[in-house]
Amino acid sequence: MDRRSFIKSSLFGAALTAGVGSTMSSAQPAAGAKNPAVLRLSSQEWLIPGRSLKEKVEKLIKWGGAGIELGPGLNPKDVLAAIEGTPIKVSAICAADGPYIVDDKDQQRKAVENAKRILDRAGEVGSTGVIMVPAFNGAGGNKQLKNPEARKLLIDLLREMGEHAVKAKCRMLLEPLNRGEAWYLRQLADAASICRDVNSPGIGMMGDFYHMHVEETSDMGAFISAGQYLHHVHLASRSRARTMPHQDNSDYRDGFRGLKYIGYQDFMSLECGCRGDRDVETPKTFAYLKQQWEEATI
Ligand code: MG
Repeated sequence: MDRRSFIKSSLFGAALTAGVGSTMSSAQPAAGAKNPAVLRLSSQEWLIPGRSLKEKVEKLIKWGGAGIELGPGLNPKDVLAAIEGTPIKVSAICAADGPYIVDDKDQQRKAVENAKRILDRAGEVGSTGVIMVPAFNGAGGNKQLKNPEARKLLIDLLREMGEHAVKAKCRMLLEPLNRGEAWYLRQLADAASICRDVNSPGIGMMGDFYHMHVEETSDMGAFISAGQYLHHVHLASRSRARTMPHQDNSDYRDGFRGLKYIGYQDFMSLECGCRGDRDVETPKTFAYLKQQWEEATI
């Protein structure tokens, strides 16, 4: 029944509403965290100054980082050589960006096959996942799909990618972006409901504090909605400047409370500009984030 028909049958609507209310009042409280959350800071590789991947890994260790986010063209052999014997892991691969939601079957195949190739490389280096944006603004041109058919198409493609991801020992990670950048998928709860419907361990999602600042009413609420499907986070300041987290005193504590509530175990990775020298500013921003994490009590 659509909304219009529902309102017309108001008597039935009132009875149903009463029923829903009584069900909700007996619902169990959220389970919360199975394990205490961990703060594992990471950075995108191209934001770390250095002549080689090994040199960048050494800087991350010195700064107290735990992960490195790589581009889709990674060479697994080189990556493994750079991180072997260090505490640094591959936090994520950014990105396999389709577009996926298009009315062009050739493009859909191209996007899915490209994602599978990246998943294979990502699995070899033990990455948490491969980030994907289903459709940036402009994807689909004047044949842009409507929301219900876009969702169905995305779920069909994700089922196929999820199967491949499981074999590759990795997962795809849906990234919601703000409305200025993507016409489809803006909020974490929406991404989580897509993960739920795909129902594959090869499909997860992430949150990006910069985009969340535009689209979410509560960082904590958004991360709690994402729950078990959340496997990566991007960090940037909350202003349009999108600079280092400490450079405009952005507040992450509400979001960190949500991460603590769900017992978040994966990485948080810098994806931001920088005012000044990154060699000087990155350790400052890691220290700032550690302090905010400590202050985010629940
Ligand atoms: Mg991002």
